[in-house]
Amino acid sequence: MTRWRYAAATDIGLVRETNQDAIFVDDSIAIIADGMGGHAAGEVASAMTIDSVYDGYLQDQSVEGLHRAIETANNTVLREARDNPNRFGMGTTIVAVGLTRDKAGVVSPTMFHVGDSRVYQLRDGALRQLTEDHSVAEEWVRMGRLTPEEALHHPRRHQLTRGVGVEDTIDIDVMSISAQPGDRLLLCSDGLSNELSPEGIARLAGVPVPLDQAVNDLIEAAKLSGGHDNISAILLEFDEVELATKPIKRTLGTTPPPVAQATRPMSHRAKRQSSWLNWRVGAGSIFAIAIVVGFFVVLHWYAYSTYYLAPDHGVIGVYQGQPSGVLWFKPRLVAGTNYSYAQLRTADQASLNATISEPSLDAALTYAASLHSQWQASQIGSTTTTTVATTTTTSKG
Ligand code: MN
Repeated sequence: MTRWRYAAATDIGLVRETNQDAIFVDDSIAIIADGMGGHAAGEVASAMTIDSVYDGYLQDQSVEGLHRAIETANNTVLREARDNPNRFGMGTTIVAVGLTRDKAGVVSPTMFHVGDSRVYQLRDGALRQLTEDHSVAEEWVRMGRLTPEEALHHPRRHQLTRGVGVEDTIDIDVMSISAQPGDRLLLCSDGLSNELSPEGIARLAGVPVPLDQAVNDLIEAAKLSGGHDNISAILLEFDEVELATKPIKRTLGTTPPPVAQATRPMSHRAKRQSSWLNWRVGAGSIFAIAIVVGFFVVLHWYAYSTYYLAPDHGVIGVYQGQPSGVLWFKPRLVAGTNYSYAQLRTADQASLNATISEPSLDAALTYAASLHSQWQASQIGSTTTTTVATTTTTSKG
């Protein structure tokens, strides 16, 4: 037989407008869920998870039963989030310590954990953290990419790699707890563990005062150091403990390894980071598209910004574009004239195609007319510039 005494409290903290943590504790199970998601969705996710897990536990008090209960909670929250657009993206952490009955009939404490809520074990004033945070920064510490000190201030320390209600499948850390009578377990949300040092937690949770007072002191201390998040704590003290006949410590589930999911944000702060990130990615894409579109607009403008004259079936044609083309913007014939190519002075014939560039169609036509009239003038031997201009104007009209 295993028996514990308990005390618990949850507090909104000093900054948040709602308490999205949910807690439950009785003689046989203790659960904390730290919900996340806007528009009260976090509260829904955490409350739903507690209900669902407790119901499942009542039906089957084996390790498998409690594990299944968390999977069911995952599906329930996920479905709710998918069915309600205003709850999209909600999720929750979970830590649960339940008394589970194994095949030999032994009833012993087993811990279940997803996310960054924690379980600490206290014995003779010493504190041991039983959970490993499923956050990007902490995963990176375990991979050796960050030192524990770096992780304390890393921007991704609040970004979860696992959560309840996030994906179809869920990895759940499951561990048999090896306890002695007199040992305490502290379950808490990150609103407590982020505000207090391990030494502070050990001192406040371990002192031999009544459990209620210890819980109260923990919460007040977290508020004193800022109370930036919702604060929840459940303190259990074992009066009697049985140990599992086959202790477990493993992760059960089928989701991809944490690294692959590391970009999936979950916590409140991470959530904001993520929408900010999405916004940035979105804005970045739009910006990139705008640059590309702008580039083609400018290129197109440049490619067709000028007109030039070139022979076209024996007469002078007006082409729009750059004589040699710009990438795939080839010059195009936009107007014909009645001026025969042959009826140009030799030098003017040679200058067609490339060197004659005019800013507009009118200017090009004017110039074609002037070339023609200069040829005419050369035929009769004399003319004046004024005449040329007049001829040009007439021919264009
Ligand atoms: Mn929290």
